[in-house]
Amino acid sequence: MLHFAVPHAAAPVTERLVEAGRQVGRGLLDLLYPPRCLACRARLSETDAPLCARCVGGLERARREVARRRLHALPGSSGEAVASVFALWRFDPDGALRALQHALKYQNRPRYGRVAGRWMGRGLAGTLSPRPEAVVPVPLHRTRRLGRGYNQSAQLARGVAASLDVPCRPGWLARPRPTRSQTHLSRQARWDNVGGAFAASRSLGGRPLLLVDDVLTTGATGAAAARALRQAGAGPVHLATLALAE
Ligand SMILES: [Zn+2]
Repeated sequence: MLHFAVPHAAAPVTERLVEAGRQVGRGLLDLLYPPRCLACRARLSETDAPLCARCVGGLERARREVARRRLHALPGSSGEAVASVFALWRFDPDGALRALQHALKYQNRPRYGRVAGRWMGRGLAGTLSPRPEAVVPVPLHRTRRLGRGYNQSAQLARGVAASLDVPCRPGWLARPRPTRSQTHLSRQARWDNVGGAFAASRSLGGRPLLLVDDVLTTGATGAAAARALRQAGAGPVHLATLALAE
């Protein structure tokens, strides 16, 4: 059986080489194409940041009251599964936030999600009561995640969790049922579409949690995800998103 041990022993070395190669490649790319702000193209000093400080400073903060009203407007009492809601910025269809979201969704830039998640964490710090014991991203269905390579909400959640110093638990919530794109659906149709899409993977023993998603539109997705967590025994579930859509 000894010959089986050889490839296994070699695997960590291979992984380290691949990772080293990736870092060299990244360094070369940064030399050839210095990182620039996605919105104004200014040169960036921090290579992981998607936007320059000026463009970030120009983004308009979303009002909590507007996000809360969206959840209250959901059919029945479905918004009540969410204990508190926070969106960092108001979505501006022509602005820097659109450039960031586009890069996150379609240009394979997971590290931008982690940086943006830390920005969300700074906005949230000290505002959540009770304090969450874990951060849970709103999951994508497997087929969509495979198409994109990663879940942008999971990257945001990692940044939020690091910023708030709580663990990130992407495995606690699954999306076993595929849903149609929400883009062209009415408020009621959105709720019908996502209402039963989520399932918690374990009993959550009264823990307060923070759900993280990229954008809040009607709030139907966040409310459905929060409901699945509550049904699995979670304590209060807060919801935080990067953007509040108009
Ligand atoms: Zn800029």
